[in-house]
Amino acid sequence: MPDAAECEVAIIGAGPVGLFQIFELGLLGMSAHIIDTLAHPGGQCTELYPDKPIYDIPALPIVGAQELVDRLLQQAKPFHATFHLGQEVTELKRCEDGRFVVGTSAGTQLNAGAVVIAGGVGSFQARRLSVPGIEAFEGRQVQYRVRTAADFHGKDLVICGGGDSALDWTVALCEKARSLTLVHRRAEFRAAPATVASMRELVAKGRMQLIVGNVTGIEAHGGTHVQVRIHGADGHEEQKSAEHVLAFFGLHPKLGPIAEWGLELERKALKVDPEKFQTSVPGIFAIGDINIYPGKKKLILSGFHEAALAAFAIQHHLFPDKRQFLQYTTTSPIMHKRLGVT
Ligand SMILES: Cc1cc2nc3c(=O)[nH]c(=O)nc-3n(C[C@H](O)[C@H](O)[C@H](O)COP(=O)(O)OP(=O)(O)OC[C@H]3O[C@@H](n4cnc5c(N)ncnc54)[C@H](O)[C@@H]3O)c2cc1C
Repeated sequence: MPDAAECEVAIIGAGPVGLFQIFELGLLGMSAHIIDTLAHPGGQCTELYPDKPIYDIPALPIVGAQELVDRLLQQAKPFHATFHLGQEVTELKRCEDGRFVVGTSAGTQLNAGAVVIAGGVGSFQARRLSVPGIEAFEGRQVQYRVRTAADFHGKDLVICGGGDSALDWTVALCEKARSLTLVHRRAEFRAAPATVASMRELVAKGRMQLIVGNVTGIEAHGGTHVQVRIHGADGHEEQKSAEHVLAFFGLHPKLGPIAEWGLELERKALKVDPEKFQTSVPGIFAIGDINIYPGKKKLILSGFHEAALAAFAIQHHLFPDKRQFLQYTTTSPIMHKRLGVT
């Protein structure tokens, strides 16, 4: 494993519970690398309900879901975790020496002393365009996310979807693209009203086309373009030639690779003991929504408790001879030093 970066602990999943694990490990003097499929930390809080208030976080009578994530990031800051975002962990293997190889879809390789799986309900995957033979175009003409907006400048685009991502990119790319057609299955949109209004203005000015209907087929069309078949809600059929089709149908969580690592599962969750939160493989721990044990409740505060106890178990796993004792952040000079407070 020559190129693998050595790390003490690898955390899979940067949801609220994975983020708090950085903090709990840091208090005990351990450092972490953290990986998430999403391009930003926050898991379900950020992806599914960023603006919703949460009422059951201790000592925060009301906190926005994104605000909670921002606070967790701030709290974890003194411990300088290394973030690997926008990449899915596809490989987790135990080596003969008891360490672990963690490999991602982007080619990152870590050699970790212990692993914490904080994968929630699974990694968020883009909902795919459902037309026959779509696999041949995915990652080439058909894409589910924009990595570099400039790639789409001067191009013929078809954008599909009716939510914030579809509308934001329609408005952002409209003046830069050679042509742009937005396809949405109904006339109503779920995006911010101001963005919808901007899109309608661009349609009125003739800068783009809006088709209410569904994409029903995609075929190769010359070297660079594809022919997109659209079935209009009014029954008419239309063909559009495009260099890129951008489909934004939202994300859905998928347990994915986690189910293939040989760890004991129960009802699609990782079985752990409620003392160490260790899985069926020593050195691999699981916390937050991904785990199951008697009495498990899928709540953020339960995940926080699990992260605290898992940190002690991980410390014991990595440094079995180290004496463990409980210290308070209020009074411990060692913890103050680690936290960077005087
Ligand atoms: C609408 C809604 C409202 C809610 N309200 C509350 C509430 O009021 N109070 C409360 O306590 N809880 C609430 N919850 C539940 C709460 O959001 C979850 O309990 C919490 O998000 C679990 O955190 P987690 O870190 O375990 O997992 P998640 O938040 O699911 O994060 C897991 C992360 O792991 C990543 N991941 C998974 N597999 C991989 C992989 N192979 N490689 C890389 N990354 C991977 C995912 O992309 C994801 O970002 C609510 C949930 C929803 C949907």
